[in-house]
Amino acid sequence: MTENEIREAAGAIGVPLDSQQAGALMRFRDLLVEANRRFNLTALNDDASILALHFLDSLTAVRVIRAIQAERGTTLDLIDVGTGGGFPGLPLKIALPELRVTLMDSTAKKVQFCNEVIRALGLHEIRAIQDRAEEAGHRPEHREQYDVVIARAVAPMPTLAEYLLPLARVGGTCIAMKGSDASAEATRAAGAIARLGGALSAVEPVSLPGRDERRALILINKVHPTPQPYPRRGGAPRKSPLK
Ligand code: SAM
Repeated sequence: MTENEIREAAGAIGVPLDSQQAGALMRFRDLLVEANRRFNLTALNDDASILALHFLDSLTAVRVIRAIQAERGTTLDLIDVGTGGGFPGLPLKIALPELRVTLMDSTAKKVQFCNEVIRALGLHEIRAIQDRAEEAGHRPEHREQYDVVIARAVAPMPTLAEYLLPLARVGGTCIAMKGSDASAEATRAAGAIARLGGALSAVEPVSLPGRDERRALILINKVHPTPQPYPRRGGAPRKSPLK
């Protein structure tokens, strides 16, 4: 993966990157591959998969976030729930440096890795924290504090809605990065979304250059405060998803 290949591929999905940004992604790639030798951070370890399925896939959310930013005209606070090795939050921060980003994961090692990357790349206004979505959703410093709440590959939609919506401020947006079944997933979660103060806004198909995978972004607007009992604690969102 060269700087030019990264810039070309990102350009093809409408995300122009300068050579410093492409260089940051390459350094991130090196850290990811190196950390994967120490512990299992991601199943994808070859350049082509990291570029397409981690970097570009993460960057498919840039267009929507830019539109939200243009509409609000302010710096956005974004939280990436279940960030793992930093996806999509780290590529988004590299592409959109003005974002204020929180990367959250329940696993200490993953959070430690994200903090290593933040330090190594010299990124500002970004932090990685160890927390569970169900707990963070009740903490005043996180509940209804974020303009954009995003997640990729964390849970089925009804569970994910209960993780994400409590963290979004009224007027904010949740983005669930999903696969080919996104429309059906969104429909199945309609009741849960409404109960949590959300309204389904759109399911936007996105594609990756040269890949067959069908992907989509489920966009949910936060229209009312989330009722106090949510998110339920103790694994309930996963064990008995809202209907
Ligand atoms: N988002 C990353 C990506 O797309 O590569 C990681 C996906 S990984 C399959 C799911 C991640 O979500 C894991 O790192 C896991 O620790 C985290 N996770 C699962 N449930 C969580 C919860 N309730 N709160 C916070 N993190 C959670």
